[in-house]
Formats: sequence, C-alpha cells, structure tokens
Amino acid sequence: MKTLHDSTLRDPMTGLFNRRFMQDQASHLIAMTLRRKKNIGLLMCDIDYFKQVNDKYGHDAGDAILKDCTEIMCASVRESDMVIRYGGEEFLIMLIDIEPGDSEAVAEKVRSGVEEKGFKVNGEKIRKTISVGVSEFPHDTDAFWQAIKFADVALYKAKETGRNKVVRFESHMWDDDEF
Ligand code: GH3
Ligand code: MG
Ligand code: MG
Repeated sequence: MKTLHDSTLRDPMTGLFNRRFMQDQASHLIAMTLRRKKNIGLLMCDIDYFKQVNDKYGHDAGDAILKDCTEIMCASVRESDMVIRYGGEEFLIMLIDIEPGDSEAVAEKVRSGVEEKGFKVNGEKIRKTISVGVSEFPHDTDAFWQAIKFADVALYKAKETGRNKVVRFESHMWDDDEF
C-alpha cells in the first residue's frame, strides 16, 4: 500500500502511475501472472497529432486534454487494471488476467471513447483521436519487455496506416530476432 501511494511513482498532473512505477513492479507482476497462468493485455496508446493542440490552443489546453483522456482510459478498464503515463502523450494500459484475444475489444473501447468525446477548449469543443497497439503477455512472447516492444510495433503500424485505430500485434510485424 505504501508503494501504491508513493508520489515518486505517480505523475502529478494525471495522478496515473508513471513509467518508473511500472519498471519497479514489472517483475512481481510477471511472476504473479505466470504463476496463475493468466495473461496481461498491453495497450500502447498515443494521441494522434497531439502537437497540433499545443500549437493551436496552447500548452494548458493540451494538459486538459491529457487529463480528459486519462478519465476515458480509466473508465474503459477494470479497477484492477493499470493505466500508466508512459511518456508525454503516450499511455500504457495493462489489462490484468485478460483472456487471450480479449484485449483488442478493450482497446477499441478506449479508442472509440476518445473519438466520441468533445474536448472543451476555450469554450469550443474539439475532436481528438488515439491510436492503440495491442499485444498479450505471455501469449505473444514469454519475454515481458519484448511484449511491450510488440505493442509499440503495433502502435507504429496504427500510426503508419492512418491513425485512429487499434492494431493487434502479429508475428510478421517483427523480423528482428536479435532482441
Ligand atoms: P502522432 O500522431 O504521430 O503521435 O503525432 P503527435 O503530434 O502526437 O506526436 P509528436 O511526438 O510529434 O508530439 C507529441 C507532443 O506532445 C509534443 C509535446 O510537446 C506534447 N506533450 C508531451 N507531454 C505533454 C504535456 O504534458 N502537456 C502538453 N500540453 N503537451 C505535451
Ligand atoms: Mg502522438
Ligand atoms: Mg508520442
């Protein structure tokens, strides 16, 4: 419980866990998941053309949208799942004990939630979208950090092929066996 409330492990703006928290907790989470013979769904989420918001409406408007997106993500997953602010406008959602194949539908819920939201900026409502890359540990690979990489590769595909979409990692997307 002490760990869960440690402020160095949370992002002050959104209140989400930060990347450091995730790095600290990973080995425990991996061990628990493998012991229970369960899976973790990994959703790597990145807001599309987020830089444009800052450029057009200012940094505070950008911050407000990040907070709204945080709410959408948290409302789309279970209380027992973990939403992590992984980078500036990049979030990693970990779906704990998911059945293999079920992660994509949750990712789609996040994506459509953002698409449907009218974000209030300076009295007007603007639309934003999000792209999501999906992998499942250990279903896709029993190397946890590689599974994270796979979600990232899938996210890159989503960006490359038009954004505002969910892409499930597939093995043909990965040809680097040096990992
Ligand atoms: P893409 O669709 O390819 O993801 O485009 P993008 O514009 O979202 O991506 P890019 O990586 O070029 O820009 C991300 C921007 O996010 C740049 C950075 O200033 C902004 N950003 C990162 N963290 C924060 C933050 O905490 N607040 C605000 N307002 N902006 C942030
Ligand atoms: Mg982005
Ligand atoms: Mg980004």
